This record gives sequence, structure tokens and C-alpha cells, in this order.
Amino acid sequence: MATVLVTGGCGFIGSHLCSALRARGDRVRVLDDLSTGSEANLAPGAALLIGDVARPATVRQALAGVDVCYHLAAIASVQRGVQDWYGTHRANLSGTIALLEEARRHGIPVVYASSAAIYGDSTVLPLHEDVRPRPLSAYGADKLGCEQHALVAGHTHGVATTGLRFFNVYGPRQDPRSPYSGVISVFCDRLARGEAVDVFGDGLQTRDFVYVADVVRMLLAAMDTASTSAPVYNVCTGQPTSILNLASIIADLCGTSLTLRHQPARAGEIRHSLGQPALARQRLATSAATTLRDGLAETLAWI
Ligand code: NAD
Repeated sequence: MATVLVTGGCGFIGSHLCSALRARGDRVRVLDDLSTGSEANLAPGAALLIGDVARPATVRQALAGVDVCYHLAAIASVQRGVQDWYGTHRANLSGTIALLEEARRHGIPVVYASSAAIYGDSTVLPLHEDVRPRPLSAYGADKLGCEQHALVAGHTHGVATTGLRFFNVYGPRQDPRSPYSGVISVFCDRLARGEAVDVFGDGLQTRDFVYVADVVRMLLAAMDTASTSAPVYNVCTGQPTSILNLASIIADLCGTSLTLRHQPARAGEIRHSLGQPALARQRLATSAATTLRDGLAETLAWI
């Protein structure tokens, strides 16, 4: 039985991870400032420390007596980074450095959340880990910064890490009421109530949607690969889904007719985002296996 710190453990992905860790018998401690997460998401039996991951004294307290750490705390929104560039940078990159610096003191391995946003608008499809990163948002730049500081942590300080570049994660507990929420939670919420959904541009833009339970399995497996060479892996399915196709599958599952409200295309929006999952499948010996239909059905059952 290990003692595990999960930063951001009251958020969407972190809360699922905490449940899985508790289910296998680990002692779980959560560090979360509850800025977007909720205490209601705290896994039964997990201990909560409310605080800011960018505050070194708080991180020190959170990591005391911990064996391994999953670092998921972040302001997980490209739009928030546009509105509050420095504030998101502090949480997303300074918070990661604060965590790595304290992990160094105790030799604690860290698995952390990176993002497909590090690829920016690269036209390489599917995106594999060796594609040159070209983030175009503060959020993507800070996530790439996390990867680079993880390299420093390994090379200079001997801290073992693994970074996971999440593509579009979806599933239960993703808050549809947040203005920064993912398209799936918003569509599920609206269509379950028989309401129209907004589609920006022609709706033919595609995303690689990955179900949260698959992400949790990959997070768990990633701890075994943590090393001072700071590996990073895509967490994706390799399956593209257009926004229009997504809306029609959800409407079908809801047994409702689909009413689309077409809105102007959003400036700067990436047209296609598709990941290559092969490296993660090989190194983590697991992959995203849940079909979109099954994952959406689980998500709708929660709403
Ligand atoms: P979320 O907003 O549900 O969870 C983030 C959690 O971090 C929240 O509980 C929030 O309260 C907490 N937090 C934020 N700032 C903090 C701070 N300064 N100190 C302590 N806690 C803080 O988001 P999520 O979707 O669960 O994302 C988890 C991680 O995965 C994030 O690092 C995010 O950037 C990354 N990610 C998510 C996706 C996705 O599709 N959901 C895609 C790529 C990367």
C-alpha cells in the first residue's frame, strides 16, 4: 500500500484517479484549491488539503510522507489563459516547478498532465510524440514548459517523471456548466434535455476524444515508466470524430432529434486534432479501449 498525493484530485480527471487508487488500497491525499474542482468529487477515504500548488510551503506539507505523486492541478483551459495570462502561468507552470522542486528533496516520482495543446496547429496527422511542439496558447506553452522542467528535474536533480499529453478527455463529472468545459459535457447536458446545441463553423473540425476511465488506466501504468529521462506519451485513441458526428451520436443515444445552431467559426481554433497512440500502447502496455458510443452512454447516465 502506497501513500499517494494527487494534485487536482477534486477535479474531473483527478477524482476518477483517486477512486481507482483507493480501490486498489492506496492511501490518497489530495491537494486542491477548489477553484474549478469540488469537495463533492473527493473520493471516499481520501484526505483533502485545500491549498495552492504554486505555494512552496503548501506543496511541502502535501508531499510529506508521500511515496508517489500524480500532478493534475492546473487551470485546464485555453480560454482562461487568454484572459489571465500570468495567473494561469503561475498555476500551470510555477505550480509544476514548485512540485518538482519539493519532489527532489524526497526522491518522489511524479506523473503529470501535459496536453495535446503543446502541438499547436501542427498539420502533421496523426500527431506523434516526435512532432515538433509549437504551442500557440499560453496554456500549451506552459504545458510544454512542464515537460521541459521535467527534463531538468530528471537530468539535474534525479527526479523520475512521466508526462502524459492528454487529448480531449471526457466522461462523468466533467462540469457542463463551466464556461470552459469540453464540447462533450456541454452537448450531453443540452441534448439530454432536448435542447439545441451550438456548432462553431461548419462542424467538420475533428477531435480525438478519450474516455476518462482509459486515461486513469494510463495514469496508473505511467508511474511504472517514470524515469529521469522524463518520457512523454500521447493519451489518445487515434480515432477522429467530427463535431457534427459527435452531436448526432449523442442525440441518437438520447433518443432526441438534433437541432443545431450554427455560430461563426472561432478565431484560432485548430481544425483537426488527432493523436498517434502507438508509443503509449507499447510503453504503458495499455491503451484507450472504450468506444466513443460506450463512453458517451456512461457520460449520459451520469448527467
Ligand atoms: P479540472 O479543472 O476538473 O481539474 C483541475 C483541478 O485542479 C481542479 O480540481 C482545480 O480546483 C485544481 N486546481 C487548479 N489550480 C490549482 C492550484 N493553483 N492549486 C491547487 N489546485 C488547483 O480539469 P481536468 O480536466 O480534470 O484536468 C486535469 C489535468 O489534465 C490538468 O492538468 C489539465 O490541464 C490536463 N488536461 C486535461 C484535458 C481534458 O480534456 N480534460 C486535456 C489536456 C490536459
